[in-house]
Amino acid sequence: MECIYCGSFETRVIDTRHDPRGNVRRRRACQDCQRRFSTIERPLLTAPQVIKRDSRREKFSREKIIAGLRIACAHRPIPPEEIKHIVERVEYKIQKLGTPEIESRVIGDLVVEELQELDKVAYLRYAIVYLELDSLEKINEELRRLRLQAFNRE
Ligand SMILES: [Zn+2]
Repeated sequence: MECIYCGSFETRVIDTRHDPRGNVRRRRACQDCQRRFSTIERPLLTAPQVIKRDSRREKFSREKIIAGLRIACAHRPIPPEEIKHIVERVEYKIQKLGTPEIESRVIGDLVVEELQELDKVAYLRYAIVYLELDSLEKINEELRRLRLQAFNRE
């Protein structure tokens, strides 16, 4: 790492810390000018392409997730910050997968998982609208799948 003060490459790491978002902070000392500075290393934010149900691809959109969540959470006792946190956690999980493409269904599942813990009504609304459950059978099937998932986690 190049010293930001004198441009020397003779720098030494004197402290390393991990923050909860998966970043690494390092405190460095320059061997030439003796000054100190910090660096942050973080995984590159690579937003994957989203594969839709009809197998078309579209750009990952955090706004789209937020819009869906707002509708699902309308008139529920859920603070707006909570929606922001959900999106952050979902984005983080998607980035951790590290895949260039992701099925919209997987994103839906991650959001549904979050809502399931937060608010049952919002969760059901989301599942019905955004997983495109347009018949009672599909809703039933989804409920069965989610129940099985919950069962397998226990
Ligand atoms: Zn220096």
